[in-house]
Amino acid sequence: MIYSAEAIVLENRDYGEADLIVTYLTKEFGLLTLFAKSPRKIKSKFGSSLEPLTYSKIAFIGREERLQKIIQSDILYPFQKIRDNFKLYLMVSDTLNLIIKFLPKKEKNSELFHLLLHVLREVENSDKWENYNLFLKINILKILGYFPDMMHCGICRKSLQKESFYSKGFFLCKSCFLKNANHSKDKVDYKISFHFLKFLNSFSKWPISHLGRVKINEKLIKKVDSFIKEHMAMTIKL
Ligand SMILES: [Zn+2]
Repeated sequence: MIYSAEAIVLENRDYGEADLIVTYLTKEFGLLTLFAKSPRKIKSKFGSSLEPLTYSKIAFIGREERLQKIIQSDILYPFQKIRDNFKLYLMVSDTLNLIIKFLPKKEKNSELFHLLLHVLREVENSDKWENYNLFLKINILKILGYFPDMMHCGICRKSLQKESFYSKGFFLCKSCFLKNANHSKDKVDYKISFHFLKFLNSFSKWPISHLGRVKINEKLIKKVDSFIKEHMAMTIKL
Protein backbone atom coordinates (compact mmCIF):
# COMPACT_ATOMS: atom_id res chain seq x y z
CA MET A 1 0.00 0.00 0.00
CA ILE A 2 1.19 3.50 -0.83
CA TYR A 3 0.36 6.26 1.62
CA SER A 4 0.60 9.96 0.94
CA ALA A 5 0.71 12.91 3.27
CA GLU A 6 1.41 16.60 3.65
CA ALA A 7 4.36 16.73 5.98
CA ILE A 8 6.73 19.10 7.76
CA VAL A 9 10.19 17.73 8.60
CA LEU A 10 10.86 18.14 12.33
CA GLU A 11 14.30 16.53 12.31
CA ASN A 12 16.43 14.05 10.44
CA ARG A 13 19.15 11.69 11.61
CA ASP A 14 21.87 9.96 9.63
CA TYR A 15 21.43 6.25 9.35
CA GLY A 16 24.18 4.01 8.05
CA GLU A 17 26.34 5.20 5.16
CA ALA A 18 23.91 7.29 3.14
CA ASP A 19 20.44 6.82 4.60
CA LEU A 20 18.29 9.02 6.77
CA ILE A 21 15.62 8.62 9.42
CA VAL A 22 13.19 11.52 9.08
CA THR A 23 10.70 12.64 11.71
CA TYR A 24 7.68 14.46 10.31
CA LEU A 25 4.58 16.12 11.57
CA THR A 26 2.00 15.13 8.96
CA LYS A 27 -1.49 16.42 8.41
CA GLU A 28 -2.95 12.94 7.93
CA PHE A 29 -1.05 10.76 10.41
CA GLY A 30 0.38 13.08 13.06
CA LEU A 31 3.96 12.33 14.13
CA LEU A 32 5.70 9.89 11.78
CA THR A 33 9.21 8.52 11.63
CA LEU A 34 10.17 7.31 8.16
CA PHE A 35 13.19 5.90 6.46
CA ALA A 36 14.78 7.39 3.33
CA LYS A 37 17.14 5.30 1.21
CA SER A 38 20.34 7.08 0.10
CA PRO A 39 19.22 10.74 0.27
CA ARG A 40 22.77 11.72 1.21
CA LYS A 41 24.10 10.62 -2.17
CA ILE A 42 24.76 13.48 -4.57
CA LYS A 43 22.23 12.53 -7.20
CA SER A 44 19.47 11.62 -4.79
CA LYS A 45 15.93 12.09 -6.06
CA PHE A 46 15.03 13.65 -2.73
CA GLY A 47 17.16 16.77 -3.24
CA SER A 48 16.85 19.08 -0.23
CA SER A 49 13.30 18.01 0.55
CA LEU A 50 14.26 16.11 3.71
CA GLU A 51 15.89 19.11 5.37
CA PRO A 52 14.35 20.19 8.69
CA LEU A 53 11.29 22.48 8.41
CA THR A 54 10.66 21.59 4.77
CA TYR A 55 6.97 21.33 3.99
CA SER A 56 6.42 18.59 1.41
CA LYS A 57 3.99 16.24 -0.18
CA ILE A 58 5.36 12.79 0.53
CA ALA A 59 4.55 9.21 -0.43
CA PHE A 60 5.67 6.23 1.61
CA ILE A 61 5.24 2.47 1.70
CA GLY A 62 5.59 -0.40 4.11
CA ARG A 63 3.73 -2.24 6.82
CA GLU A 64 2.48 0.04 9.56
CA GLU A 65 4.23 -1.75 12.39
CA ARG A 66 7.60 -1.48 10.63
CA LEU A 67 9.73 1.56 9.77
CA GLN A 68 8.04 2.75 6.58
CA LYS A 69 10.02 3.98 3.60
CA ILE A 70 9.72 7.33 1.78
CA ILE A 71 9.43 6.81 -1.97
CA GLN A 72 8.64 10.34 -3.04
CA SER A 73 9.00 13.81 -1.58
CA ASP A 74 8.04 17.02 -3.38
CA ILE A 75 8.66 20.36 -1.76
CA LEU A 76 5.57 22.49 -1.25
CA TYR A 77 7.49 25.19 0.61
CA PRO A 78 11.07 25.00 1.94
CA PHE A 79 11.05 27.62 4.75
CA GLN A 80 14.56 28.36 3.59
CA LYS A 81 14.67 31.79 5.24
CA ILE A 82 14.23 30.22 8.67
CA ARG A 83 16.91 27.62 7.99
CA ASP A 84 19.31 30.31 6.79
CA ASN A 85 18.92 32.24 10.01
CA PHE A 86 20.85 30.13 12.49
CA LYS A 87 19.60 31.76 15.68
CA LEU A 88 15.97 31.57 14.61
CA TYR A 89 16.44 28.04 13.34
CA LEU A 90 17.86 26.87 16.68
CA MET A 91 15.04 28.53 18.55
CA VAL A 92 12.35 26.93 16.40
CA SER A 93 14.03 23.49 16.43
CA ASP A 94 14.14 23.57 20.20
CA THR A 95 10.40 24.25 20.30
CA LEU A 96 9.66 21.54 17.73
CA ASN A 97 11.39 19.08 20.04
CA LEU A 98 8.35 19.40 22.28
CA ILE A 99 6.24 17.80 19.53
CA ILE A 100 8.78 15.00 19.06
CA LYS A 101 8.89 14.39 22.80
CA PHE A 102 5.25 14.69 23.75
CA LEU A 103 3.01 13.90 20.78
CA PRO A 104 2.27 10.17 20.64
CA LYS A 105 3.27 8.68 17.28
CA LYS A 106 0.67 8.27 14.53
CA GLU A 107 -2.00 10.26 16.29
CA LYS A 108 -3.54 12.70 13.82
CA ASN A 109 -3.66 16.25 15.16
CA SER A 110 -4.93 18.75 12.60
CA GLU A 111 -4.92 21.62 15.06
CA LEU A 112 -1.23 21.17 15.76
CA PHE A 113 -0.34 20.76 12.09
CA HIS A 114 -2.15 23.96 11.09
CA LEU A 115 -0.72 25.90 14.02
CA LEU A 116 2.82 24.94 13.05
CA LEU A 117 2.35 25.70 9.37
CA HIS A 118 0.72 29.05 10.10
CA VAL A 119 3.40 30.16 12.59
CA LEU A 120 6.27 29.08 10.29
CA ARG A 121 4.75 31.03 7.42
CA GLU A 122 4.47 34.19 9.47
CA VAL A 123 7.69 34.05 11.46
CA GLU A 124 9.65 33.84 8.23
CA ASN A 125 8.73 37.40 7.36
CA SER A 126 8.95 38.94 10.78
CA ASP A 127 11.65 40.11 13.15
CA LYS A 128 9.53 39.34 16.22
CA TRP A 129 10.81 35.76 16.48
CA GLU A 130 10.54 35.58 20.23
CA ASN A 131 6.83 36.37 20.12
CA TYR A 132 6.15 33.66 17.57
CA ASN A 133 8.35 31.13 19.26
CA LEU A 134 6.82 31.67 22.68
CA PHE A 135 3.32 31.54 21.22
CA LEU A 136 4.16 28.32 19.41
CA LYS A 137 5.65 26.77 22.53
CA ILE A 138 2.67 27.59 24.75
CA ASN A 139 0.15 26.44 22.16
CA ILE A 140 1.94 23.17 21.41
CA LEU A 141 1.83 22.42 25.14
CA LYS A 142 -1.81 23.53 25.39
CA ILE A 143 -2.88 21.33 22.47
CA LEU A 144 -0.98 18.36 23.88
CA GLY A 145 -2.52 18.88 27.31
CA TYR A 146 0.69 19.84 29.09
CA PHE A 147 -0.26 23.40 29.96
CA PRO A 148 -2.20 24.11 33.17
CA ASP A 149 -5.62 25.77 32.99
CA MET A 150 -4.93 29.50 33.34
CA MET A 151 -8.53 30.45 34.23
CA HIS A 152 -9.61 27.93 36.84
CA CYS A 153 -8.18 26.40 39.98
CA GLY A 154 -6.71 22.99 39.18
CA ILE A 155 -8.50 21.42 42.18
CA CYS A 156 -11.86 23.10 42.83
CA ARG A 157 -12.28 24.55 39.30
CA LYS A 158 -13.34 27.99 40.65
CA SER A 159 -12.17 31.03 38.66
CA LEU A 160 -8.70 32.09 39.66
CA GLN A 161 -8.65 35.37 41.55
CA LYS A 162 -6.05 37.95 42.49
CA GLU A 163 -4.33 35.57 44.88
CA SER A 164 -3.32 32.59 42.79
CA PHE A 165 -0.60 30.02 43.23
CA TYR A 166 1.41 27.57 41.22
CA SER A 167 1.77 24.14 42.71
CA LYS A 168 3.16 20.99 41.09
CA GLY A 169 2.00 21.70 37.57
CA PHE A 170 -1.28 23.48 38.39
CA PHE A 171 -2.57 26.95 39.13
CA LEU A 172 -4.53 26.93 42.37
CA CYS A 173 -6.84 29.27 44.27
CA LYS A 174 -5.70 30.40 47.70
CA SER A 175 -7.91 28.05 49.67
CA CYS A 176 -6.89 24.93 47.72
CA PHE A 177 -3.28 26.01 47.91
CA LEU A 178 -3.42 26.37 51.70
CA LYS A 179 -5.17 23.01 52.06
CA ASN A 180 -3.10 20.99 49.62
CA ALA A 181 0.28 22.43 48.89
CA ASN A 182 3.41 21.17 50.41
CA HIS A 183 4.88 24.30 51.94
CA SER A 184 8.39 23.01 52.19
CA LYS A 185 11.66 24.67 51.26
CA ASP A 186 11.59 23.41 47.69
CA LYS A 187 10.45 26.19 45.44
CA VAL A 188 7.82 24.18 43.59
CA ASP A 189 4.85 25.89 45.27
CA TYR A 190 4.61 29.64 45.07
CA LYS A 191 2.36 32.61 44.66
CA ILE A 192 2.01 33.71 41.09
CA SER A 193 1.38 37.25 39.96
CA PHE A 194 -2.17 37.68 38.70
CA HIS A 195 -0.93 40.02 35.96
CA PHE A 196 1.44 37.33 34.79
CA LEU A 197 -1.34 34.75 34.74
CA LYS A 198 -3.64 37.10 32.85
CA PHE A 199 -0.92 37.88 30.33
CA LEU A 200 -0.20 34.17 29.79
CA ASN A 201 -3.85 33.44 29.20
CA SER A 202 -4.49 36.28 26.79
CA PHE A 203 -1.17 35.89 24.94
CA SER A 204 -1.89 32.20 24.28
CA LYS A 205 -5.08 33.24 22.46
CA TRP A 206 -3.70 36.10 20.40
CA PRO A 207 -4.49 35.94 16.70
CA ILE A 208 -1.28 34.85 14.95
CA SER A 209 -1.28 38.00 12.81
CA HIS A 210 -0.94 40.03 16.03
CA LEU A 211 2.39 38.48 16.97
CA GLY A 212 4.41 40.34 14.38
CA ARG A 213 3.03 43.71 15.37
CA VAL A 214 3.34 43.90 19.12
CA LYS A 215 6.54 44.44 21.04
CA ILE A 216 6.59 42.48 24.27
CA ASN A 217 8.91 43.52 27.05
CA GLU A 218 12.02 41.35 26.93
CA LYS A 219 11.92 40.62 30.65
CA LEU A 220 8.36 39.34 30.37
CA ILE A 221 9.33 37.04 27.50
CA LYS A 222 12.19 35.65 29.61
CA LYS A 223 9.89 35.23 32.59
CA VAL A 224 7.33 33.28 30.57
CA ASP A 225 10.06 31.18 29.01
CA SER A 226 11.60 30.25 32.34
CA PHE A 227 8.15 29.53 33.79
CA ILE A 228 7.55 27.07 30.92
CA LYS A 229 10.93 25.41 31.49
CA GLU A 230 10.22 25.02 35.19
CA HIS A 231 6.70 23.77 34.55
CA MET A 232 7.90 21.18 32.04
CA ALA A 233 10.64 19.97 34.37
CA MET A 234 8.01 19.60 37.08
CA THR A 235 5.48 17.86 34.81
CA ILE A 236 8.01 15.32 33.59
CA LYS A 237 9.07 14.52 37.16
CA LEU A 238 5.48 13.86 38.31
ZN1 LIG B 1 -9.42 25.88 44.37
